[in-house]
Amino acid sequence: MDLKREIAELTPNLIALRRDFHAHPEIGTQEFRTAQKIEDELKSLGMDVRRCLPTGVIGVLKGGKPGKTLCLRSDIDALPVQEETGLPFASENPGVMHACGHDNHMACLLTTARLMANHRDEIPGTLVFLFQTNEEDAGAQDMIDAGALDDPRPDAIMGMHVWSYTKEGWIGIVPGALMASSWYFKLTIHGKGGHGGSPHSCINPIDCAMHVLQAFQTFHTLEMDAKKPTTVTVGKLQAGEFNIVVPDDCLMEGSIRCLHNDDAAVRERIREMIDGVCKTYRCTYDLEYKCGNSLLDNDPELTKMVIEASEEVLGPDRVDDSVATMIGEDFAEFLKVVPGVFFFMGIADHDKGTDYEHHNCRFNAPETVLPKAVEMQCTLIRKYLGF
Ligand SMILES: [Zn+2]
Ligand SMILES: [Zn+2]
Repeated sequence: MDLKREIAELTPNLIALRRDFHAHPEIGTQEFRTAQKIEDELKSLGMDVRRCLPTGVIGVLKGGKPGKTLCLRSDIDALPVQEETGLPFASENPGVMHACGHDNHMACLLTTARLMANHRDEIPGTLVFLFQTNEEDAGAQDMIDAGALDDPRPDAIMGMHVWSYTKEGWIGIVPGALMASSWYFKLTIHGKGGHGGSPHSCINPIDCAMHVLQAFQTFHTLEMDAKKPTTVTVGKLQAGEFNIVVPDDCLMEGSIRCLHNDDAAVRERIREMIDGVCKTYRCTYDLEYKCGNSLLDNDPELTKMVIEASEEVLGPDRVDDSVATMIGEDFAEFLKVVPGVFFFMGIADHDKGTDYEHHNCRFNAPETVLPKAVEMQCTLIRKYLGF
């Protein structure tokens, strides 16, 4: 297998795929055109292809020799963002954009699938190409529940994200905790409404909410181990309609992110503080937690394999190990079922304009990174399966 030559031959098609996906972005769970195109591509390679949920697609390539089963995952959804890149292949769907780079992931994984299908007889084992719906809103768990990791059950899973916080030509990875868990909370504080001129006969939930916020700050600065990165962020606070009316309720919504494994204890302590403050201020409350994504915990041995692959593909010392982030990724849910690894493919180059934040309306990945990403995937497959 002459990897570099074969990838060079497939690169025009790789770029065409990327541009086509980029021009036709679709929001999570609505990726019908996208899923159809993926399904058609995989079927043209002679794979067993099935849908998992209406827009998730799984292709299975059985090699010619016995061996382990490796799953590679790409996300497929776009975001409700109006594109402002000015690219000739910019989004044709108003208000929807591939602003996180998932168009690149799909094009790379389909190209890797094509290259591997061309060498089917040499492959000792089975490859599962998993195209996941709705990454931006926790679609991974839905796909697992719908059987994405059954039949065949992979021995390991690998994922990649183009990453504008890392320079082009580098990868970003750490063993263990790479991306934070994220839990959403919705707190409704119940007081007792009434006349603003008679506050003593009311119970003002706004005042209670202020002390709850202060308790979060105290928890963060005085109780939480500074070596265990944790954020408690309130993004929504709503109460009241009129200046002389004390409202009944106050709504507070936010997220709790942890780059460590003590997240359950953090949530419990936050609940306890809310409970104590509400009692002090004579309020009652309802608190709901919802899991956004789990901690993304990289397998140490597979992390070593990714670093070795990067030395072959990108050259020595091209690994940024300062990339652990409070941003979440639902690839973490797959890692709770099978061991695996997730890494960032750096794309940032200020002169090319490819260092915009993810989810920004000017986000763009340089196409020069795509053949390298395919080479990383193919190298990892060969290392893991041993051929
Ligand atoms: Zn995103
Ligand atoms: Zn993303």
